[in-house]
Amino acid sequence: MTSNITFTMIKPDAVADGHIGAILGKISEAGFGIKALKLTQLTVADAKKFYEVHAERPFYGELVEFMSSGPIVAAVLEKENAVDEFRKLIGATNPAEAAEGTIRKLFARSIGENAVHGSDSDENALIEAQFHFSGREIF
Ligand code: ATP
Ligand code: MG
Repeated sequence: MTSNITFTMIKPDAVADGHIGAILGKISEAGFGIKALKLTQLTVADAKKFYEVHAERPFYGELVEFMSSGPIVAAVLEKENAVDEFRKLIGATNPAEAAEGTIRKLFARSIGENAVHGSDSDENALIEAQFHFSGREIF
């Protein structure tokens, strides 16, 4: 796998709000290829592990509860400079501060229920992709 990949989840709010198709459309229009894709649901243990860097933050409990509350779409995406390009496409963590036209500005409910996840480094993109997908699910 090259470093031109990032990992994303369409979070439970955006799945429940019916935005899977629109968000995948934005991702595709922005020039990302799909290397892996599935509808799945995190257990509480999965969500705790995935976000364990935030374990000491006051919102950790809420975050774990939310991320395990319903189905998500997990995907591995490919583009040159994928991590940075994808974080530009999704916008700021808080949708109220996200730029016009970004996925979070368009589809997020709030700072906690913010529609999508995007990896923050090449190293974490690989770790997160492997957390969700087996080798034969990544193309
Ligand atoms: P993500 O890692 O999901 O792509 P991010 O990198 O923009 O988001 P982080 O700082 O890594 O933001 O926070 C992880 C997630 O924790 C956020 O996406 C959001 O769902 C939640 N979160 C962050 N800050 C807050 C907050 N102040 N209150 C509630 N939830 C928060
Ligand atoms: Mg993050």
